[in-house]
Amino acid sequence: MVREKQTELEQRARELLYERGVEIQDIAELVYYLQAKYFNDLTLDMCIYNVNRVLSKREVQHAVLTGVELDILAEKDQLSEPLLNIIKRDEGLYGIDEVVAYSIVNVYGSIVITSYGYIDKQKPGILKELNDLSTGKVNTFIDDIVGAIAAAAASRLAHSYAGDILDQ
Ligand code: MG
Repeated sequence: MVREKQTELEQRARELLYERGVEIQDIAELVYYLQAKYFNDLTLDMCIYNVNRVLSKREVQHAVLTGVELDILAEKDQLSEPLLNIIKRDEGLYGIDEVVAYSIVNVYGSIVITSYGYIDKQKPGILKELNDLSTGKVNTFIDDIVGAIAAAAASRLAHSYAGDILDQ
C-alpha cells in the first residue's frame, strides 16, 4: 500500500490510540462488523486501508488529540472539579465526548451517523473493552472516537464500492 508521509500530528494521533490500547486492526474489525453483511468479498485489509485513510484527515487527528488527552488527564486526576468527576464517571448526561466524535462523523456523510449509533449501542470488539469500567482506566472520550473512526471508515468503504471518487 502506498502511503504518503505522515505528518507529526498524524503520528501523534496514532501513537495516542496505540498507547491507550487501540490498534488499527481493532478499529478495522469494527468496520468489518459494520460492512461484512453488505459485501461478500470484504477483507480485513480493505477495512484497514479505509481506517488509515480516515486517520489521515486533520479533523480526525484533532478529535483524537483532544479527546484522548482529556481521558488521560482525568485518569491522572489532573482536571479540576466538577469536570474531573464527570469525565471519570463517564456521566450519562455529559454528551461532549459524543460531540467530539461527531467532528469525525461529519467528514463522511450521513450514513456514518447511523453506523456510529449502531455500534455505540452494540459495542462489539474493542468498544466492549473500552467500556469496561472495572479496569480503572478512563475511556470516556476514546470509545466514541474509535466508534466514529470505524463508522467513518465503513462509510468511506461503502462509497468507494459505489464508485464514488474520494479525495481523501
Ligand atoms: Mg463515551
